[in-house]
Amino acid sequence: MTSRIYLSAPHMSGEEQRYIKEAFESNWIAPLGPNVDAFEKELSAYAGVNEAIAVSSGTAAIHLALSLLDVKKGDKVFCSTLTFVASASPIIYQGAEPVFIDSEPQTWNMSPGALERALQEAKLEGNLPKAIIVVNLYGQSAKMDEIVALCNLYNIPMIEDAAESLGSTYKEKASGTFGRFGIYSFNGNKIITTSGGGMLISNDAVAIQRARFLAAQARDPAPHYQHSKLGYNYRLSNILAGVGRAQLMVLQDRVERRRVIFKRYYEELAQMPGVTFMPELENTRTNRWLTAFTLNEETAGVTVKELLDVLNENNIEARPVWKPLHLQPLFMEAAYYPHGKNEHIAEQLFHTGICLPSGSNMTEDEQTRVIHCLKGAFSGVIDKEGIG
Ligand SMILES: *Cc1c(COP(=O)(O)O)cnc(C)c1O
Repeated sequence: MTSRIYLSAPHMSGEEQRYIKEAFESNWIAPLGPNVDAFEKELSAYAGVNEAIAVSSGTAAIHLALSLLDVKKGDKVFCSTLTFVASASPIIYQGAEPVFIDSEPQTWNMSPGALERALQEAKLEGNLPKAIIVVNLYGQSAKMDEIVALCNLYNIPMIEDAAESLGSTYKEKASGTFGRFGIYSFNGNKIITTSGGGMLISNDAVAIQRARFLAAQARDPAPHYQHSKLGYNYRLSNILAGVGRAQLMVLQDRVERRRVIFKRYYEELAQMPGVTFMPELENTRTNRWLTAFTLNEETAGVTVKELLDVLNENNIEARPVWKPLHLQPLFMEAAYYPHGKNEHIAEQLFHTGICLPSGSNMTEDEQTRVIHCLKGAFSGVIDKEGIG
């Protein structure tokens, strides 16, 4: 049996142990410490923002952002529908109500048209959202100019969920820096990892100061333990921040490698019948965290399920595109705004999309295996039809 090829496996730089060793030698094992401070400074310098706080996960960073914006019961929060559940679950933690916004075809991300309609309706009802969470799927930036203009017009703070798009740019500006808050994730499958972790970034120093208070159990300044606000235990450990520092040093290499992986898939598979790769919006540069394509089953003569099955049988991990959150049983009650009257882009992408193994440490031979497997599935079909 050949070894398993993963969708996106952790890829260490080799320098991680040095930072971990330092932490052990100085006995900085507890949360906080010099690696945490340095990781925050290094990441904020990289992104070009004033402030950053390292936390235990990307989900925690989103939760803190909502908490800082005083999102609470009775409030609405708009959120991209085509995303991982963690983009929206903190809305529920706060007792607020999510409203899901469809994707548009050029970026697969939040449709400015659907967002505008949702905002207009909310304004008429006198119930504008407290925040808007915009996701950059698989590394591709959403249409930030249009979305930021709408956020400004209605004066709603935006949280940019850049968990998948660290290292990407939009008009040469770092992904994650377009809203009041940005969040990154260092989960094991992301472009760089601390095994688990996240970062909340902002130019608002007062807000990040408050995030530090909330993320460390909201202790009032008193010699005894006194609490007048509800806090969380969300800080990143000094050991894991050391891993993050070593990972951040190789971020650019990781982006280049994932883009090369995309390019090779594209060159080998784009001419297969019915295959359309995820686009890259003009003036943006995606980190191609995951290579994704859609399949027109009629043109292809093979189904998404058949391709996923073939890959799985060959010990290759591949996945459908995220199931839209407005279709999740968890969010049955939530409102949803489609891209157009009869245009449900996220649903279409979910039914036709496939994500391929894209890890920066995948070898060329491994990628060849994936490509052969897919080509085989396509030619199998052509054989059946007596063409090949
Ligand atoms: C991974 C991910 C998150 C959550 O990050 P964690 O660090 O796993 O909590 C949030 N949003 C998106 C879009 C993600 O892909």
